[in-house]
Amino acid sequence: MGEILYQTIVEQVSEMCKKSNYNLGDDVYSAFKQALNTEQSETGKEVLSQLIENADIAKAEQVPMCQDTGTAVFIVELGQSCHIVGGSLVRAINEGVAKGYGEGYLRSSMIYNPLNRKNTGDNTPAVIHIELVEGDFLTIHMTAKGGGAENMSDLKMLKPSDGMDGVKKYILSIVKEAGPNACPPLVVGVGIGGNFERCAYLAKKSLFRPLSIRHEDPVIAELEEELMLEINRLGIGPQGMGGSTTALDVKVEVESCHIAALPVAVNLNCHASRHQTITLK
Ligand code: SF4
Repeated sequence: MGEILYQTIVEQVSEMCKKSNYNLGDDVYSAFKQALNTEQSETGKEVLSQLIENADIAKAEQVPMCQDTGTAVFIVELGQSCHIVGGSLVRAINEGVAKGYGEGYLRSSMIYNPLNRKNTGDNTPAVIHIELVEGDFLTIHMTAKGGGAENMSDLKMLKPSDGMDGVKKYILSIVKEAGPNACPPLVVGVGIGGNFERCAYLAKKSLFRPLSIRHEDPVIAELEEELMLEINRLGIGPQGMGGSTTALDVKVEVESCHIAALPVAVNLNCHASRHQTITLK
């Protein structure tokens, strides 16, 4: 039985919140550099250069790369033989978020209730998804998810007869409708299957896979490549200023569903695609 102290989780989560906002991941940074070589528009190239410079400054000065420091979203793999000592896992994560956002001077963006709009003041509550797995470890994946891109995300219960063509058409329509509002270049997360709520989760989960790592199923990997090409033909470009880099990547997760269903969710992520992972034992 592995034992992990409550306070260890608080400290580690606090650091993840700061690091994710200050240090753009190598995968996204490399994708910016690569896009700079392939971008067709001069304005698009200029915007990509500014995004690279912005990421460099944020890292050097340890300041947030964007004023929107996001909703703290976690996917937690909790080993069945792992025991959290000294308090609850959910409470530890929320305490870590409050500590990290406070110490790191990161904007508090969460409100108690969408109807009263009152800010909670410490960026809690986090959105926490817990998956029970085999083992005695705890893996915490975190993303600071920007509000603009989240607002342009969508879910649709397609008909099975809509087929693959209907799925692609729907995904492209959502990216097109988002235009500049989701702060491109985007990472487009897609969930196909499950039921209504599971499908949205799949789309979110897909965004935690590092860029350039394709799905292990070659059919899904091919779909990701194809969607990427189609999206980049839309001409939206970096920051919506026109160009051939509308998406840095497309990620798709697929799961079983009911014979009568074809749920598809599109969770857009902006260019500030921030994620961190730690494993504790
Ligand atoms: S959507 Fe992303 S890039 Fe746009 S303001 Fe929010 S965090 Fe920043």
